[in-house]
This record gives sequence, structure tokens and C-alpha cells, in this order.
Amino acid sequence: MPGQRVLIVEDEENLLQALKYNFQREGYQVLTAADGEQGLASARETSPDLVILDVMLPKLDGFEVCRILRRETNVPILVLTAKGEEVDRVVGLELGADDYVTKPFSMRELLARARAMLRRSRMASEASPSPRGELLKAGDIEIDLTSHTARLGRTSLELKPREFDLLALLVANKGRAFTRDQVLERLWGHDYVGDARTVDVHIRWLREKVEADPGRPKRIITIRGVGYRFEA
Ligand code: CA
Repeated sequence: MPGQRVLIVEDEENLLQALKYNFQREGYQVLTAADGEQGLASARETSPDLVILDVMLPKLDGFEVCRILRRETNVPILVLTAKGEEVDRVVGLELGADDYVTKPFSMRELLARARAMLRRSRMASEASPSPRGELLKAGDIEIDLTSHTARLGRTSLELKPREFDLLALLVANKGRAFTRDQVLERLWGHDYVGDARTVDVHIRWLREKVEADPGRPKRIITIRGVGYRFEA
């Protein structure tokens, strides 16, 4: 959304300017920093809506900046990595970056990712007027509404926004049965024109991610003739 603030931390001047130009052209307010220390200071000072963070930076590298920021805030962080091997560290729980692109990247792709992250975080903050840091738990499933992340045991779940909302709805009301229409209304809104099979499709996708055997679900239970329930 135009007007949202994007902090870009990148020491290659040409790339920094190119990024700045492109984000500004999309209507974002752009803040820049050319090293890790400056980046961290700027993030603390300005509370941006998104941080684009290079890994190889003078003074404080992107790994450190990411680790520190993640402890202090839930701002979405998109990391620019130079090597494929860095990716595991970047997206791992260790650092908690939300997404990454590998250099050289296409500006179009980067902008698309950034837009998606900004949209997600805005939706998350609008959808959950809950206190910061609220956790939903059911067995070994843990959902963090503030950071919009979900985990199954120690594994982080890669959920699309609707899947996340659906899982959060079911887990927050575990043991309670929902009809398809109720789910549609909660997640898609009153004016959604579509049919209840949309819910079934999302349930199926979600089961593939949270059930040991999606064909014989133990967590998200079908209640014949009614709908679904998350097993308490
Ligand atoms: Ca660099």
C-alpha cells in the first residue's frame, strides 16, 4: 500500500539507488542505510513496515542485524543473499527472516515479494486486534498471531494467508465445530460470492501441511453433515 515505509539496507550504492527508485515509484516511502549499524539504528528509530536487508554489509552483517531486529520487533524482513548456501541460515528459525531473494534478482520479483509481505503484515495487524505476542496452541501446533507464523513441533509451517487464517480460527476454537458457511463468513466475509467447497479445498491443503497422514486426519476432523473441528 502506498505510504508504507520500506527501509533498504544495502552497501552497493548502485543497487541501493535502483531499489530506492523502484520502491518510490510504487508509492512507498523509502529509508536507506549503507551499513549494518546504520540500518539497525534506522530500523529502531523509524519502525518501518518492511526491511530489505543485504547480508554482506560493513560494520554489522545482515545476519546480525536480522537476529537483533527479530528479537526486538516483528517487522517483516526480506533478505538479499548472494549465495544459495546462506539461505538455510537466513530463513531458519535461527535468524527469523520472512523471505529472501538471491542476487542477482529481478526487480520485478523483488517488488512482488515485498508487496506480498507488506500486504500480509497489514492484514495480520488488522485481523488480530489481539495483544502483541499472542500465541495459540494446540498440541504441538503453535501459532504466533503477531508475527503471523505457525509451527508444528520445531518445524515452521509454510502457510498461505488463507491457510494461516483458517488454522488460527480452528485452533483458537479447538473442540468447536464450524460449518462451511461459518468458515466462509469468518474468513472471506459476508459478501463473498462462491461456494462452500472453497473451504473444503483449503482444509485439504491445510491437512497436507499439518497431518501426518492427510487421508486419515487426526487434527482437523470432518464432522459429517456439519463441517470441521480442530481436535482439542
Ligand atoms: Ca553487500
